Amino acid sequence: MVKCKYCGEQAYVWVSRAGGPLCRKHLIQLVEKGVEKTVRKFRMLEGVKKLGVAVSGGKDSVALLHIIHRLYGDRVRLLGITVDLGIEGLRKQFEIAVDNYRELGVPYRLVDLGVEYGFTMDQVARLSRRLRRPVCSICGVVKRYIINKVAYEEGLDAVATGHNLDDMWEFALRTLSSGRIEEFARLSLVSPRGPRMIPRIKPLGLTEEWLIEEYAKARDLRFFDGSCPYKPRNDLREALRYAASTIDEAAPGYLKICVKGFLEAAERIRPPEVKLRFCERCGMPTTRRICSFCSIREKILSLLAEENSIK
Ligand SMILES: [Zn+2]
Ligand SMILES: [Zn+2]
Repeated sequence: MVKCKYCGEQAYVWVSRAGGPLCRKHLIQLVEKGVEKTVRKFRMLEGVKKLGVAVSGGKDSVALLHIIHRLYGDRVRLLGITVDLGIEGLRKQFEIAVDNYRELGVPYRLVDLGVEYGFTMDQVARLSRRLRRPVCSICGVVKRYIINKVAYEEGLDAVATGHNLDDMWEFALRTLSSGRIEEFARLSLVSPRGPRMIPRIKPLGLTEEWLIEEYAKARDLRFFDGSCPYKPRNDLREALRYAASTIDEAAPGYLKICVKGFLEAAERIRPPEVKLRFCERCGMPTTRRICSFCSIREKILSLLAEENSIK
């Protein structure tokens, strides 16, 4: 039997960068200490009294909710935020998110995209060719918009999201390799505050994805294990994530060093903040007359109306 390097209990997982075998308890401790350190170092909760936690029901966001609740639940008021995107194959995912809020007694807001905004991501996927935009990019706009809107309406000081180290790496490489340096410059663990713009924090941003998964399993958390039906096959994202896991195996800890380097580089080239105005349709902040959410939504609704009139 392989023993935990700290306590001699039966080992549960091998973490090279932590020096070898760890039992359940010490794996959980390693992950939680890591998150605590990230939160402290990047001052994520300074002045935060009400914190939103965006939970999709996947392993990262479910682990995030439980970690935040355990570490800060007594000091910070939490509000769960879940967007039901109207994807038939993922219905279970949003139910699991709600189950987790209930288990912890965390109040939450569940936003049903179809009911509140008149369209679903299933419909967007069907229309994606005519919208001339990948489904995932529209989904990204939708989630960011709704999460910020809820956070603003609820008077939250910040919203935590479940982005992990591999997500950070993927974003950095994807933007850099296609020359989108202005986008790369937005890489950060704490997004800026602005009028009606609530900062987003990423407490798991320096924790490896596989370690979060081990954490979730070690704590028997309930999370949704499937993937989105609209995830493109063979795309660059997958290749980059695969590279991340290979790097982490070959040189434990190096992935984190890379991402820290990217974060510093992004900080240095961050452009001066652009002046925001308020969207003429919905009043939320934007750089344009009409925000990207409202303009996509108008396009989607008009295509849907067109479809209905043909029928
Ligand atoms: Zn141990
Ligand atoms: Zn708008």
